[in-house]
Amino acid sequence: MSILNADLHCHSVVSDGTLTPEELASRAAANGVQLWSLTDHDEVSGQQRAAAAARAHGMKYLTGAEISVTFAGETVHIVGLGFDADDPAMREGLLQTRGGRQERAREIAEGLRQAGIKDAYDGALKYVGNPELISRTHFARFLVDSGICSNTGDVFRRFLTHGKPGYVPHRWASLCDAVGWITRAGGVAVVAHPGRYAFTANEEYALFIEFKAHGGTGVEVVTGSHTTAEYVKYADTAREFGLAASRGSDFHDPGESRIDLGELPYLPGELTPVWELLTDRIR
Ligand code: AMP
Ligand code: MN
Ligand code: MN
Ligand code: MN
Repeated sequence: MSILNADLHCHSVVSDGTLTPEELASRAAANGVQLWSLTDHDEVSGQQRAAAAARAHGMKYLTGAEISVTFAGETVHIVGLGFDADDPAMREGLLQTRGGRQERAREIAEGLRQAGIKDAYDGALKYVGNPELISRTHFARFLVDSGICSNTGDVFRRFLTHGKPGYVPHRWASLCDAVGWITRAGGVAVVAHPGRYAFTANEEYALFIEFKAHGGTGVEVVTGSHTTAEYVKYADTAREFGLAASRGSDFHDPGESRIDLGELPYLPGELTPVWELLTDRIR
């Protein structure tokens, strides 16, 4: 059933969100979320706390993570839902994926230094909740709070995207590995916010073909990263490729995020919701 307030994508202090798993759970519950998942980037250390907090608020819960993948030279995010968070191969894979972040952060800081911004590494570190998970978002918060940029979107445009001084190309997990870790741990793999990637139509087609070939079965249709037109476009993609549909705010922070937890349109009724593939994994 599509008329369910499911929010299956958000971030805590364990990655690049600013709220704790418990704070997110109470915010989600207050907004009417019925089925929730915390999907920190490349990390599952918040899962037990999130599941316990969900239970305390009477929400159903699915384990979650958002895995960084490199595909056709772009970073693609794959959300895993309902997998066993203690699965050894999954844990090892995520550990490897997190591994290059510190060195990358040093290089980002060096790029920013050359653009005249001093001490960005230490500056960003002050915002980091998990030392293994320093991300561009933490640099963005530092640049906003130090008055160099007016908001995080401005930071990404001027400093942190392709061709800008703080952009460092990085090789993340492969699509095959990420989908494999999730599915072999009993979960469902979902292409996160497909509307956000700078792919040509051919590249996007290849992404979905390969994703399916590796065992992926879902796509985010209704997400805080999509426009209304993209809800329609990716509902068509779900039908075309025979994928189940997911719904998630991608909430990071009350001040930064455009869409709050649970505050999204419902999934279009004719699509199969991902949670129908995961009935035995819902806690
Ligand atoms: P990283 O994993 O370090 O490359 O950081 C990626 C994160 O940066 C994403 O998960 C978003 O939270 C954030 N992000 C990416 N692009 C933007 C943007 N244009 N504006 C604001 N935040 C962004
Ligand atoms: Mn993020
Ligand atoms: Mn993402
Ligand atoms: Mn996300």
